[in-house]
Amino acid sequence: MTDHYDSADVIFINTCGFIEDAQQESINTILEMIDTRGSERPKIIAAGCLVEVYGKGIMDSIPELDGAIGVHSYRELDQFMEALFSGKRPVLKSAPSSEYSSLSTRVLTTPVYTAFVKIADGCNNRCHYCMIPSIRGPYRSRAPEEIVAEVEDLLDRGAFEINLIAQDTTAYGTDLEERPDLAGLLKQILQLDRNFRLRIMYTYPSRIDDSLIDLIREENRICNYLDIPIQHSSDYLLEQMGRHYRQENLRSLFAKLRRRIPDLALRTTVMVGYPGETRRHFLDLLNFIKEHPFESLGAFTYSRQKETPAGSLEQHVPARVGRKRFQELMLKQRQIARRINRKYLGLRLPIFVEGKVQTGDSWHYGRTEYQAPEVDGLVYFRSVEKLKPGSLVSAEIKAAGPYNLMAAKPLLIDRLPR
Ligand code: SF4
Repeated sequence: MTDHYDSADVIFINTCGFIEDAQQESINTILEMIDTRGSERPKIIAAGCLVEVYGKGIMDSIPELDGAIGVHSYRELDQFMEALFSGKRPVLKSAPSSEYSSLSTRVLTTPVYTAFVKIADGCNNRCHYCMIPSIRGPYRSRAPEEIVAEVEDLLDRGAFEINLIAQDTTAYGTDLEERPDLAGLLKQILQLDRNFRLRIMYTYPSRIDDSLIDLIREENRICNYLDIPIQHSSDYLLEQMGRHYRQENLRSLFAKLRRRIPDLALRTTVMVGYPGETRRHFLDLLNFIKEHPFESLGAFTYSRQKETPAGSLEQHVPARVGRKRFQELMLKQRQIARRINRKYLGLRLPIFVEGKVQTGDSWHYGRTEYQAPEVDGLVYFRSVEKLKPGSLVSAEIKAAGPYNLMAAKPLLIDRLPR
């Protein structure tokens, strides 16, 4: 394994096939690697979802590619490598297995103190705009004991923050014989008598139940944070998108969550410009996020995938209108987040140190339990002492912007008490 492409024999580019923009980004990365590979000419492989979408077609359209391997074929990597080094241009793509297929111990590509743990693969929700069910296959939960063993191994290797992910974490266990649910899985993980922090990502609004809410509220080792992609608030659009809830369900869910866990931070994702979205539907969404504010919100404009049910819908919203709505929405979210983040002012919060700002001499940055890695904002603070990434400090929040917070000089607390 090497981090430097000029010392690699083979470069695997993990691609995404979810939406057109992501596909384009994957293709650009492949082309960039082809252009920058040095005289040693390492072999360049497209791996992952894009290969599932285009199969051999990707090799035909990029003749410089040396091979392609889809998400369900990683077990056959040795055969793939043999073919590759015997001068062939292998393409491996197989059907998803009927059960969650685990590989051996993971090589961590995230910093050692934070890790993503996948609890299931695939999706049965079949939202009308989404390619993921056809790329990743039906929902397959990972056995609970295997997840617990992986979490324990990661903790042994120095992890503190464990982010649980899946296409839909709240569908966990629906396909297993004993039908353990997400709350049941969390309880099993929490039996590990260790000091760590669990974060739940990618939940489906209509599957968040009281047992999950109670557990988040009562258990200190679960972040008071939930990522709940809603996509839209208009009943018409939710129906068109094939989402299994309506605005009324969202309103009662968010009211309940705020009531039961007062310091909960919420993240969501929404989509604008879906076929049939009128100005009125869009204003409904703006109004919804004003009435039910989210600490963090990600948005994207609809991108047509002709292989999905939405791909054949008429009434397409012009791209220019979609982009304008996106900007308007993000502007509104800036105002909302700036206001909502003020609730942290004056509070002394534990901050998980992530690193030191390169240009500012004593500036460091980190995250509170209310900020997920990679997608949410950060907390900036000064410390003359160079703090190790992964250590915990506590500091008073002095300023709040729409995305980031600023804190006063911190105190080192190392690891959170239970
Ligand atoms: S829940 Fe997510 S992954 Fe599943 S179909 Fe809908 S958008 Fe795609």
